[in-house]
Amino acid sequence: MSAAITSFAPELLAWFRQHGRHDLPWQHPRSAYRVWVAEVMLQQTQVVTVIPYFERFVTRFPDLASLAAAELDEVLALWSGLGYYSRARNLHRCAVMCVAAHSGQLPDTFEALSALPGIGRSTAGAMLAQAHGQAHPILDGNVRRVLARYHAIDQWPGAPAVQSRLWALATAHTPERQVCDYTQAIMDLGATVCTRSRPACGQCPLAGGCAARAQGLAGALPIARPRRVIPDRHRYWLLINDEAGRILLERRPPRGIWGGLWSFPEQDAAPVHMPGPPLAEVQHSFTHFRLHARVVCATLDCSATQDRDTAWFGPAELHALALPAPVRRLLLDQLPGITT
Ligand code: SF4
Repeated sequence: MSAAITSFAPELLAWFRQHGRHDLPWQHPRSAYRVWVAEVMLQQTQVVTVIPYFERFVTRFPDLASLAAAELDEVLALWSGLGYYSRARNLHRCAVMCVAAHSGQLPDTFEALSALPGIGRSTAGAMLAQAHGQAHPILDGNVRRVLARYHAIDQWPGAPAVQSRLWALATAHTPERQVCDYTQAIMDLGATVCTRSRPACGQCPLAGGCAARAQGLAGALPIARPRRVIPDRHRYWLLINDEAGRILLERRPPRGIWGGLWSFPEQDAAPVHMPGPPLAEVQHSFTHFRLHARVVCATLDCSATQDRDTAWFGPAELHALALPAPVRRLLLDQLPGITT
């Protein structure tokens, strides 16, 4: 085994003892359930954003049984603002499945864990390493960046062949012992030292063996995803009030963007009777398209509200609803007068 492989874990672990994060809420206590919730929240989201969501979530749902028994609406409401809502739906489905098929416990084997919805290879590895000390590699965004730089991989890490190579390297680096600390250490290094822009190579415990640093490529790697043109989608969001000052919202279909969340009734074209100019315009980028929504006043009898899952809500009820972040901002911050 090359020196670049053998020195990697010991150097990282020595650094972690002094500089790693030892006080994250899911580390105390580090139960399988808490590690799971944290790992799912951390997919595509930074630690600092996750912490308050995690604390609220485990206060309301302290274990698998309480989560499985909850209404999906309440789970989505606690997730509201964190984005990527399929994670919350999968979390809830998983809890229900574990109660039904795994005696109310999360499984502790890779095969059983990764068969559950929303638990991919990296999440399963992180859960087994952190909750059970089993030696499984992880490859989240932070780890991918560290490995792509350390081994000076000059191709886009999302390409399947590069992905396989990175998994092989992640496996080779993962130690048999202290795997829980190692897993946290490599995530911490990526988040605090080997950061996306301006990596702090001068403070890095891996600097001696890092190929990107030796070749002056640290700032240029990893290679960015080849550019794609993202289409624009234009929609109208209908603001419909009743005489009591309540607002009509529509629950979005369970699958797709913002599935299961409450939003304005939406349509492609402007309503026929539009009493005035748009009250607000919203832009929101998804992976596959950019949404441009115009919020316009409309009447209850417009066709967009027929045969839809709609309900009226008063101002006091909006806070507890599962709302997509831009809708929450509009209703609670930008247009608070519209529901009174
Ligand atoms: S030396 Fe620099 S580029 Fe290499 S792993 Fe450390 S921080 Fe990242």
